[in-house]
Amino acid sequence: MNIHEYQGKQLLREYGVAVSNGRVAFSPKEAVAVAKELGTVPIVVKAQIHAGGRGKAGGVKIVKNLDEVRAVAADLIGKQLVTHQTGPEGQEVKRLLVEEGIDIEQEFYIGLVVDRATDRVTLMGSAEGGVEIEEVAEKNPEKIFYEIIDPVVGLAPFQARRMAFNMEIPSKLINKAVSLFLGLYKVFSEKDASIVEINPLVVTKDERVLALDAKFNFDDNATFRHKDIVELRDFDEEDPKEIEASTFDLSYISLDGNIGCMVNGAGLAMATMDTINYYGGEPANFLDVGGGAKKEKVAGAFKIILSDPNVKGIFVNIFGGIMKCDVIAEGVIEAAKEVELQVPLVVRLEGTNVERGKALLKESGINVVAADSMAEGAKKIVELIG
Ligand code: GDP
Ligand code: MN
Repeated sequence: MNIHEYQGKQLLREYGVAVSNGRVAFSPKEAVAVAKELGTVPIVVKAQIHAGGRGKAGGVKIVKNLDEVRAVAADLIGKQLVTHQTGPEGQEVKRLLVEEGIDIEQEFYIGLVVDRATDRVTLMGSAEGGVEIEEVAEKNPEKIFYEIIDPVVGLAPFQARRMAFNMEIPSKLINKAVSLFLGLYKVFSEKDASIVEINPLVVTKDERVLALDAKFNFDDNATFRHKDIVELRDFDEEDPKEIEASTFDLSYISLDGNIGCMVNGAGLAMATMDTINYYGGEPANFLDVGGGAKKEKVAGAFKIILSDPNVKGIFVNIFGGIMKCDVIAEGVIEAAKEVELQVPLVVRLEGTNVERGKALLKESGINVVAADSMAEGAKKIVELIG
């Protein structure tokens, strides 16, 4: 789960991490009110969307008076902001962060990620801030420094110091940087984040160390114990079909092709997609119904797949273990009848109660093509959509 920059900065404030003063605004009028309250010049107006690259895309404006605040706010609100992270259709700006302008001396990068190679949370830092870190990693990997964190000890102060020295933070600001890094680690671990990225971290002309941007990503498997974080979720930033799927506790992934896939289990999902590709097809999505789903959940899943206008055919590929084939069949029949299925449907069932599942489908009168293997099913759906 992602949150907005202004929400991330509020969280940082609560953990004693230095950020600039500012507040969220939902309209040009509110933006002016916030700027007035801040009473500083210049003022920075920043589009709040769940994507980076806003600076280059015109989503971060530095202005000198309230009239300009009103003008840039009016321009940004309602705009489809296209950055290198949004995709070509962009993302509509509905919220702004209005902040005091900071006099930047130097920009750095600092972040915390889970490193799968070491199975450890890792502090990453670089003097190359304000630019895409992916690019630095590719072209100048020696300019990125790492501290692997022991989960029992946490980020040790000596590691934070070593990082600050490696990043060449000015020597008299090392202590401020160290305390910021320690605060960052504290919020990361206490809130079960999976990514915290500050790009840029800045040293100001008046000798402060501040987080000028804040990107947070939280582990979805841990949000149940962070009600405060869940409240920050902004549904406007998410794919409506993925939201719908999450209300049924299903995992749904949108893809670019035209074959909708309903499967159970991530491994089978991967194999199904590979097999569809092998026969020359392209999946539009995959929806994992997991184990032990009820009929209503299966029907809900089926309807989500059908709500995607790109779907020209559906392949249901289920290996019934805990998930019973007759339950899948009942869900598919219910949903297919309700929405008057218009596209070809291929169903391959195997495992628990398979005979009963197949019989139900046959008796149902819905137009379904049965397949006895994954390969046969994938081949049939690709042929049927032509
Ligand atoms: P991103 O492009 O989406 O990552 O947005 P950022 O929050 O990182 O802002 C982009 C850039 O705008 C930063 O790298 C800074 O150079 C600049 N910027 C943001 N806030 C300020 C500010 O208060 N003062 C100045 N001078 N520049 C700022
Ligand atoms: Mn940034």
